[in-house]
Amino acid sequence: MFLFFLQQMPVIIAGNEQQQKKYLGRMTEEPMMCAYCVTEPGAGSDVAGLKTRAEKKGDEYIINGQKMWITNGGKANWYFLLARSSPDPKAPAGKAFTGFIVEADSPGIQIGRKELNMGQRCSDTRGIVFEDVRVPKENVLIGEGAGFKIAMGAFDKTRPPVAAGAVGLAQRALDEATKYAMERKTFGKVIAEHQAVSFMLAEMAMKVELARLAYQRAAWEVDAGRRNTYYASIAKGYAGDIANQVASDAVQIFGGNGFNSEYPVEKLMRDAKIYQIYEGTAQIQRLIVAREHIGRFKG
Ligand SMILES: Cc1cc2nc3c(=O)[nH]c(=O)nc-3n(C[C@H](O)[C@H](O)[C@H](O)COP(=O)(O)OP(=O)(O)OC[C@H]3O[C@@H](n4cnc5c(N)ncnc54)[C@H](O)[C@@H]3O)c2cc1C
Repeated sequence: MFLFFLQQMPVIIAGNEQQQKKYLGRMTEEPMMCAYCVTEPGAGSDVAGLKTRAEKKGDEYIINGQKMWITNGGKANWYFLLARSSPDPKAPAGKAFTGFIVEADSPGIQIGRKELNMGQRCSDTRGIVFEDVRVPKENVLIGEGAGFKIAMGAFDKTRPPVAAGAVGLAQRALDEATKYAMERKTFGKVIAEHQAVSFMLAEMAMKVELARLAYQRAAWEVDAGRRNTYYASIAKGYAGDIANQVASDAVQIFGGNGFNSEYPVEKLMRDAKIYQIYEGTAQIQRLIVAREHIGRFKG
C-alpha cells in the first residue's frame, strides 16, 4: 500500500503540468517505482529537524545529506526529496524546506543495502546518501520554501489507503482465526464454541468493521473536496492499532500453532507492526487528532 501512493503524491498535489507529464507519465508507460525521501537517520517524526541541505547555484540546486528508511530506495526511477533550502536556522518549517524531484541516476547518489525488517520484507527499504547532487531548478515543486507543506499535505491523501491496507491485514487475521476456531477442538467441542474465544472473534470483527468505516470516511472527505487531516489521522491511527491487536489475537486463537511460521498468522503479526510506524507513528496521529479537535473548538 505504502508503495503505491506516498511516493507520487507530492507530484500529484504540487507538480506543474510539465513535471506531472514527465514524471507521472513515466509511471504509466512501464512498470516503474519512485520513492519519497524525507526521513533521515536523525529525524523521522520531527520532520522540521531534517539536515539535508539544498544550496542554489545558478540554475541548479546542490543537494547534500542522508536519507533513511526509504521504501523503494533501490528500485526507484526518481525521488521526491525534502531538503532545507533556507540558510537561516531560525526560519519556520513552512518556509525553510523545498521539495525536489530528483532523477535516481543523478551523479552523487549512493544507495545503501536493503534493510532487514521485521515484516513487509518484500518491500525494498534503504538508506540513500546525496553528495553534491545537482538538481535543475525546473524540478522544484511549487517554489522554494513550499516543501514542508507539500510533504505533509501528501499524507492527507495517503493515510486513508494506508489504513485500508491495515484493515485488509486485520480482516485476513480475523478470517484465518475464525476458520481455525471452527475446526480446532478442545474439551469435546470446537474452540469457537467456547465463549471466551467467540467473544475474542466478536471484538476482532468490531474493530475491523469500525476501522473500515474510518478510512472510508477519510477517503470520502477527499472525494468531497474537503480538508480531511482529522479523519485521515483517525483512520490511520486506529487501523494501525487494531491491525496489531487483531493479528495478535489471531495468533492467540491459533495457540502454539500461531507462534509457528508454518501457519499464516505469525507473519500477519510481524507485518502489522509497521502500520503503527510509517506515514506518521501512532503517537503522531494522536498529536494531529488532538490538534485538529481542539482547533475546532477554538475556531
Ligand atoms: C519499513 C519502513 C519504511 C519506511 N518508508 C519511508 C519512506 O519511504 N520515506 C520516508 O521518508 N520515511 C519512511 N519511513 C520512516 C518512517 O516514516 C519513520 O520511521 C517514522 O516517521 C518514525 O520516525 P523515526 O523512526 O525517526 O522515530 P522517532 O521520530 O525517533 O520516534 C521514536 C518514538 O518516539 C515517538 N515520538 C516522537 N515524537 C513524539 C512526540 N512529539 N510525541 C509523542 N511521541 C513521539 C514516536 O511515536 C516513536 O514511538 C519508513 C520506515 C520504515 C520502518
